[in-house]
Amino acid sequence: MSPTGYDLIVVGLGAMGAAVAYHASRLGLNVLGIDQYEPPHGLGSTKAETRITRLAVGEGPQYLPFVKRSHEIWRQLEVEAGAELLHECGGIIITEQEPVPGQRWEDFVVETARIASDGGISYDVLSPAEVRSQHRWITVPDDRNAGFEPTAGLVMAEDAVRVQLELAQAAGATLRLNERVLGVEPAGDHVVVRTPQGAFAGSHVVLATGPWFRELAAPVHARQVDVTRQVVYWFEVEELDAFTTQAIPFVMWIGQRDEDYIGLFPMPPGGGTPGVKILGEQFLSSTDPASVDRNVSQEEIDTFYDVHVAPKFSGITRNCIRAEVCLYTNTTNDHFLIDADPRSDRITVMSPCSGHGFKHSTALGEAVAQRIATGKSDNDLGPFRAR
Ligand SMILES: Cc1cc2nc3c(=O)[nH]c(=O)nc-3n(C[C@H](O)[C@H](O)[C@H](O)COP(=O)(O)OP(=O)(O)OC[C@H]3O[C@@H](n4cnc5c(N)ncnc54)[C@H](O)[C@@H]3O)c2cc1C
Repeated sequence: MSPTGYDLIVVGLGAMGAAVAYHASRLGLNVLGIDQYEPPHGLGSTKAETRITRLAVGEGPQYLPFVKRSHEIWRQLEVEAGAELLHECGGIIITEQEPVPGQRWEDFVVETARIASDGGISYDVLSPAEVRSQHRWITVPDDRNAGFEPTAGLVMAEDAVRVQLELAQAAGATLRLNERVLGVEPAGDHVVVRTPQGAFAGSHVVLATGPWFRELAAPVHARQVDVTRQVVYWFEVEELDAFTTQAIPFVMWIGQRDEDYIGLFPMPPGGGTPGVKILGEQFLSSTDPASVDRNVSQEEIDTFYDVHVAPKFSGITRNCIRAEVCLYTNTTNDHFLIDADPRSDRITVMSPCSGHGFKHSTALGEAVAQRIATGKSDNDLGPFRAR
């Protein structure tokens, strides 16, 4: 083992790790990427084909530079890899006019409109009657707020991971797949990463282990995250053409309680599961990747349809053609955690999920890679340091 083996070892090659490996290789670093499986795989946070992206990010202005940059990079990746990654179908957000105090975010339509206005992003606040007349399939009641962003859309999440890993390899990165990292230890001017197959030295290490974050992170960071089980459903629709990204925007419908949230994703071009994808959110019961129940019962499907789908949309049948379990890695404040590890500033931990990380992922990877390569980044990672 040479202490100068690699400039950078990336542990975990999901949405975040693939982006770091791609950008770091492009910056000329000698990169080793290690994953316990073969990403994109279905066991962590990056599955189920698509992710919502919005330039007007109601989660806070600190995210805006990252999502803007991510859109630029996806467009570049599309040219480089000949893959379609970003579908700008637009997005509608619907919220309660009187949200319950203590919700995850302030009124999301109001915050989104504010960020759009400050950031020069096109955004239309709509009345419920306007939503109903433009989208007859949405049964929005009169006592809701609503807004539409034309530049919002869907990112092909699994394809984006695949493309970045392929391009990282083309730029010289070494990938070790189906190899689990057992430990990460600082050793003077490098860090040793241990797997059952051996020990690897890197000048820097990035831990981007998604829902497995607590296993390798220092206790002070591990305590700040919690993993929750989420279910994604695909329902058969009466007319497939009416529920594609060419025909309709995505919908984020935020209810009074966090668990009343639903997201509706139209079907992207190029195949995929032939139906509309709809998911909920829950933060009430914690789990971990080893013990999570990955089965979705018929009772769970029926309850979700009756409570969340039928009252809100028409044209969607109760026939669920696919259901998947996916994992959120939530921080205690719902924002990202990207920071130096207390054991060594040669180790960077990266836990940007809380259910909204994908849209920022490639720009976050770029910023982390720039920091390691040059000591600074174009976009400011400071807001994501641990509190
Ligand atoms: C259901 C669902 C819907 C979502 N919707 C959206 C959305 O619409 N818009 C949005 O922006 N975001 C969304 N998100 C969030 C987004 O998907 C996540 O932020 C993102 O996928 C997190 O990626 P990650 O790289 O942190 O984790 P992962 O993609 O899970 O990657 C972690 C990787 O680390 C590897 N690993 C872990 N431990 C080890 C080890 N010891 N050794 C080797 N390898 C290891 C794993 O195998 C895995 O490949 C959603 C998330 C979920 C679950």
